[in-house]
Amino acid sequence: MIQHPPIVVRQQISLKPYHTFGMEVKARDFAELSHEQELPAMLKLISQYQGPVLLMGGGSNMLFTKDFEGLVVKISTRGIEIVEEDEDFVYVRGMAGENWDDFVQFCVSRNLGGLENLSLIPGNVGSSPIQNIGAYGVEIRDSFYMLDAISLRTGEFREFFAGECDFGYRHSIFKGELKGKYLILSVTFRLKRNPVLNTSYGAIASELEANGETPSVKSVAAAVCRIRRSKLPDPEETGNAGSFFKNPVIGEQQFLELKQQYPAIASYPADGGVKLAAGWLIEQCGWKGFREGDAGVHDKQALVLVNYGNATGTRIYSLALKIIESVKEKFGVQLEPEVNIY
Ligand code: FAD
Ligand code: NAP
Repeated sequence: MIQHPPIVVRQQISLKPYHTFGMEVKARDFAELSHEQELPAMLKLISQYQGPVLLMGGGSNMLFTKDFEGLVVKISTRGIEIVEEDEDFVYVRGMAGENWDDFVQFCVSRNLGGLENLSLIPGNVGSSPIQNIGAYGVEIRDSFYMLDAISLRTGEFREFFAGECDFGYRHSIFKGELKGKYLILSVTFRLKRNPVLNTSYGAIASELEANGETPSVKSVAAAVCRIRRSKLPDPEETGNAGSFFKNPVIGEQQFLELKQQYPAIASYPADGGVKLAAGWLIEQCGWKGFREGDAGVHDKQALVLVNYGNATGTRIYSLALKIIESVKEKFGVQLEPEVNIY
């Protein structure tokens, strides 16, 4: 058996390389989980730690407004394997620290359908259930089978099947009542050998058509990658955490009133009401392309706040608050951050 060295805890570590907003902030203590065999030692460290503990994957859904005065545990366990297959489905498990897009492309390259619309989303496999990541009309709950997790408090191992995760729009139980309580170790997806492809999201169909391609798992994945690269800022170049706000869902009556006043309002049917495109609301308030110092609003998608270099987290956060206020004032709609703020 391979012997693993004890967990190394380092002090006053810069988090700049570990999160996509790219702020210069420090963690008081920092440790990395690279192998499952290190789990007992890591759990002991976490349970005995005096202060807050933050699990971190790819750091692509986080805004730090100050140094983190606690322990950051970076999850870096790797591995992808096919665990079971039958005539219709193939079950593929990814370790929590595996890069999400590597995992998606593992499935796409084998023509396994279900995750192709979720290509190129930053972050790790272990974080994908936290907000039930979604894009281009698909969410992970559509292909999610189960996950393995461990309680940070008791060290108890637990499996969660889809029905136990309370998946919703950019939501799960791990963002709700179990927030910060479990470390997700691995996630297993149930992929289809003969998927019904989802090209209903306009941009995909037109991208396929423009390239003269017929829909397939691979062509849809490639189309999604092309669209995303053309529209979204690359965190390697410009700090950001994707959509800063959730798209708000409002009641039918409020929607009808808004529609009368703003006939072009971007809206889609949703569970419990009507979903508005938050990017559209923000754009109408004049924020698209706004820049103050190094904090700004992306010029191609107003839902994305950006750090052009040296913006502090508080600068970004105060910009977010101003945006929330102006959308509330103009439309009477309350925006909520999707990004986790520390
Ligand atoms: P982190 O930011 O590291 O963590 C997010 C949360 O998960 C934190 O609360 C953290 O404590 C917790 N966590 C992390 N790992 C674990 C674990 N193993 N166990 C328990 N808790 C854990 N999101 C979408 O839904 N759709 C998109 O299309 C999309 N596009 C994006 C585009 C860009 C350019 C960027 C920068 C972000 C985008 N996002 C999108 C947001 C983000 O990529 C996802 O939310 C992603 O799942 C975050 O993964 P991560 O590993 O970076 O998580
Ligand atoms: P877009 O195509 O400009 O659309 C704007 C908004 O309208 C999206 O937020 C989307 O809601 C909604 N929308 C568009 N067509 C829709 C349809 N046919 N049915 C239902 N809703 C529709 O969006 P974009 O900024 O380029 O992003 C493309 C996709 O990637 C979106 O799904 C978006 O959520 C996802 N994305 C997410 C993040 C993130 O950080 N969460 C970052 C970048 C991109 P939905 O968001 O509900 O799909």
